[in-house]
Amino acid sequence: MGSGQCPEPVYIFMISLKGLRKKAWDLQSIYVRRFAKGICFTCDIKKDWLRECDAGHYLHGDALDFELEKNIRCQCKRCNNHLSGNSGIFLSRLIKQIGYDPTDELLEKKHKIRKFTREELEGLVETYKRKITDLA
Ligand SMILES: [Zn+2]
Repeated sequence: MGSGQCPEPVYIFMISLKGLRKKAWDLQSIYVRRFAKGICFTCDIKKDWLRECDAGHYLHGDALDFELEKNIRCQCKRCNNHLSGNSGIFLSRLIKQIGYDPTDELLEKKHKIRKFTREELEGLVETYKRKITDLA
């Protein structure tokens, strides 16, 4: 940056898209784990939601990270990591909860290139901030 040029400070302080995506994910993750009170979706064991639980996916994919209702639930680390998401039980419980099998829909979304826009991510951040506040 030349000394005679006027920088554009708005870009310096603007959070990157990647940072915003992480922020949205982190807030969603907090919401999911707190909402479940640390009870694992796939094995029913209650753990400390903050330290011992994850927001687990039924199916993985960049486009599926914010498919909360159809794809994300609180899981203990054992189910999420060591049992690779325990996806058989995950699916059967998901079907029971939402009333249908979301697999085809999720797979279709997964294979589309999906970039979240800044507006969408900001919207998610606001949504989860509000949801977390409502839980308290
Ligand atoms: Zn578990």
